[in-house]
Amino acid sequence: MSFIKFLGTAGARFVMMKQLRASGGVWLSAGKTNVYIDPGPGALVRCLNSKPKIDPSTLDGIILTHKHLDHSGDVNVMIEAMTEGGFKKRGILFAPRDALEEDPVVLKYAMGYVDKVEVLKEDSDYRIGDIPFSTARKHQHRVETYGLNFDTSPRTISFITDTKFFPEIPDLYRGEILVIHVVRLKPIGDELIEHLSIEDVRGILKKTRPRLAILTHFGMTMVKAKPWVVAAELEKELGLKVIAASDGLKIDLEEV
Ligand SMILES: [Zn+2]
Repeated sequence: MSFIKFLGTAGARFVMMKQLRASGGVWLSAGKTNVYIDPGPGALVRCLNSKPKIDPSTLDGIILTHKHLDHSGDVNVMIEAMTEGGFKKRGILFAPRDALEEDPVVLKYAMGYVDKVEVLKEDSDYRIGDIPFSTARKHQHRVETYGLNFDTSPRTISFITDTKFFPEIPDLYRGEILVIHVVRLKPIGDELIEHLSIEDVRGILKKTRPRLAILTHFGMTMVKAKPWVVAAELEKELGLKVIAASDGLKIDLEEV
């Protein structure tokens, strides 16, 4: 069965630190391949506590979209779990260069447990087992950050991770399922907050019109606004299927 499962829907620091939402990231299974995207704090615990339990030793790879802790906090322990404590060298780790080299978030010894480390770059194609995927252009975020396009069947998936809005976003992410990290309800003038708001998302969805849009990675203003209410409003306004991810949500790719 091919599916995406949300092991966390927290976005940015405060929702993560207070664990108002879990911060485990996303599990993707397609064909015989299992990939973990952005194992934030709690990823391992969320896998093992999920019902049915998902087994990290079946992972074929781990992808970090960027090195911020809400995306990478559990990367080392997930590598250990994927490789059964380092005894079974396996899997591929994908990450931007700055997550691996300057002030790295992946420990050197953990990097030695995986079969291969691949550096994510702009506009590049990659593959893990049955899952081909590509990066688009570099996001506008304080650290090196890439969104992802998964060429999965029966549905393609685009994954717009943290970024400040830029006008090319809709052209870069054309997956039938569009996962968008929307931290803020309203845009904020502060240049330091490099995240999408619902206003940005509205503009992106108007242009991309995916088969299914999934909002996730909520900051405090989104949590307070009740993401499912915001999603329902967008769905009505745009005439598109829009849902807000909740912790543990599983989407079967065959059913979208
Ligand atoms: Zn970030």
